[in-house]
Amino acid sequence: MSARVLAAARWAAAQHHQQRRKGRHDTPYINHPLAVAELLARVGGVTDEAILCAALLHDVVEDTDATLADVEARFGAEVAGYVAEVSDDKTLTKAERKRQQVLKAPHKSVGAKLIKLADKTSNVGDLLDDPPAWPASRLRAYVAWSREVIDGLRGVNPALEAAFDATAARVDAELPTDDD
Ligand code: ZN
Repeated sequence: MSARVLAAARWAAAQHHQQRRKGRHDTPYINHPLAVAELLARVGGVTDEAILCAALLHDVVEDTDATLADVEARFGAEVAGYVAEVSDDKTLTKAERKRQQVLKAPHKSVGAKLIKLADKTSNVGDLLDDPPAWPASRLRAYVAWSREVIDGLRGVNPALEAAFDATAARVDAELPTDDD
């Protein structure tokens, strides 16, 4: 394990230190980027350091006051490029950002596609493992949208794609069928 990857984990933890995940367990936010990087390495067999660093940093620009320039200064242009590719444009509405993720998925670099595959797998798995207080209909809509994004990312890593499919199928099977 390289010093740069560990430095990315440490800096991401510092950036996200006051944040919690959406779920009911009050999970520290950093657990999510750690899970994304771990999925890439363990399931996807990814060893590329820049991709693993970017996985650890994938939400710092979107969700903290860190900038792409900060990421580039600390971790280099390649890592910052991946983080830019996987960050939503926060000037857009939530609905438009979700639409853009579907439209842009097929045009991303291989590294960004790998990070998005693992990110969506982590987020969809958390709907069961650390569920937000959403009605089942909203949880199902989230899975459906995630599948649309994933369909634009396929063809880069069959193991990660299979992990997403298995996770989404598990959510489908275990979510209640109505809201009462
Ligand atoms: Zn994420």
